[in-house]
Amino acid sequence: MTVASPAGDTLFEHAACGLLLARTDGVIVRVNATLCTWLGESAESLMAGRKLQDLFTIGGRVFHHTHCLPMLQVQASVAEVQVDLLHRDRSRVPTLMNIARRAEGDAVYDHVAFFITVERRSYERELMLARREAEAALEARRGAEAQLQALNAQLSRDDRRKDEFLATLAHELRNPLAPVRNAIELLKMKAGAAGPSRPLQVLERQVGHLAHLVDDLMEISRITRGQVALRRQPIDLSHAIRAAADDAMPVVSAAHHSLALSLPSVPLCVDADATRLMQVVLNLLTNAAKYTPPGGQIWLAASREGDQAVITVRDTGIGIPAQSLGTIFEMFSQLTPALDRAQGGLGIGLALVRGLVELHGGSIRADSEGEGKGSVFTLRLPALPADDAAAAPVAPAPARAAPEQLRILVVDDNPDATETMCAMLELHGHLTRSAHDGAGAQQAAAAFKPAVILLDIGLPDMNGYEVARRLRAAPGGEALFMVAATGWGQEDDRQRALSAGFDHHLTKPIDFARLQLLLAEALAR
Ligand code: ADP
Repeated sequence: MTVASPAGDTLFEHAACGLLLARTDGVIVRVNATLCTWLGESAESLMAGRKLQDLFTIGGRVFHHTHCLPMLQVQASVAEVQVDLLHRDRSRVPTLMNIARRAEGDAVYDHVAFFITVERRSYERELMLARREAEAALEARRGAEAQLQALNAQLSRDDRRKDEFLATLAHELRNPLAPVRNAIELLKMKAGAAGPSRPLQVLERQVGHLAHLVDDLMEISRITRGQVALRRQPIDLSHAIRAAADDAMPVVSAAHHSLALSLPSVPLCVDADATRLMQVVLNLLTNAAKYTPPGGQIWLAASREGDQAVITVRDTGIGIPAQSLGTIFEMFSQLTPALDRAQGGLGIGLALVRGLVELHGGSIRADSEGEGKGSVFTLRLPALPADDAAAAPVAPAPARAAPEQLRILVVDDNPDATETMCAMLELHGHLTRSAHDGAGAQQAAAAFKPAVILLDIGLPDMNGYEVARRLRAAPGGEALFMVAATGWGQEDDRQRALSAGFDHHLTKPIDFARLQLLLAEALAR
């Protein structure tokens, strides 16, 4: 089948481009109708001896002369040259021009084709516009990213400041707590066999609660700042769990809950910091007791699952809504605001628990079938091989009273702290003196000749490390039993204290039972 196609002439005349045939001197010998229409000329007029270059603007003529002619001579073609043609009414017709120089028999002609570029120009303009828009969008995006980065930096600065604030707050709260606790101990001792009065019991309980909150605050700020160093050793998990259950008993029985313990019959050993692990389990038990209506049931169980030790704390309490299970371990997350509850907390207990568990290489999750349906917390830790017999039992050594008299110098810039501490020590039969700065400590040590010095690190004139160094270097200093007391109690403080010549390091508020153990050690030397 043949398809009807326009005759050669029609194709030439009405091509979609302007066509022109010229001699090499530019004289036009043929021109198509398309070009004539574009220029508003007739073919006769154009072929009446006019030249190709006569169709150009002046600039176009110069360009033709300097660029097109040499190119035609060298390579017999010119491609995609932009030239403006002149319409009969002197307006400009922007075109793209191609020329091919060809020999036809003896003669040589230039075959010229023109394309109108108006459309191309507007297309280019659109392209340019789109490009500018894209660049502007990119610029805006860069700006937004920079702003986001600045906001991020601001957020992490704020976060750091919050952590620092919490650490300082906990530290500052601990200092006044120490003398308050000592004063309570003193009052209890004075009460003697009659036992502490009701108000004193309340005071003791509430101060204990306060101290607990402050300790939690201190801990969490240390964890977030990566300052907690675990003292790990192989331990039998059952010991730590029993100890935690014992510690939780007062809270559990006060709410008339019953606590069921299920432990493996063989040792279940983990490489852990026993004190921290007890703290974790105690926290979970305290929560179970707190968030279960009186008379509930709590189950505490441990078992081995392959190479993992699994501890579960389950209760029959208020439960946890499904949407909160994922966020409950975040800091300050409380499902019921503390103000609405009988036993308010800070909402850091579970954050602390997760932090400590993760430091041990373990994980923790919460499950609940919903409100009122109880909760279960499942804690997993890497277990040591079953036959690891090296596990050290975790049993806090019983506090022994120092049986004999010691000469003890107590140094602290807070007079309430030294006064109550001295009074406590004297009630236990020791002889005491106090000093409130480094210089005073040195004078008192020279005059009083103590066997034991309890030395605060933050003193007004020089720090306690410096005082310790000087006391050690003084005559008779090597025999001194020196105990550092700091509010911070971080591992590097401990190390610093030991290298400054202290025998021991205690964290404020000083636990009197621990101090008594140290005093017994001092007496044994
Ligand atoms: P706090 O007890 O000081 O508020 P926690 O971090 O220990 O802070 O607990 C966070 C929140 O998780 C609590 O406020 C409580 O809403 C919820 N929660 C914790 N343990 C339990 C539990 N055993 N049953 C129900 N809710 C619990």
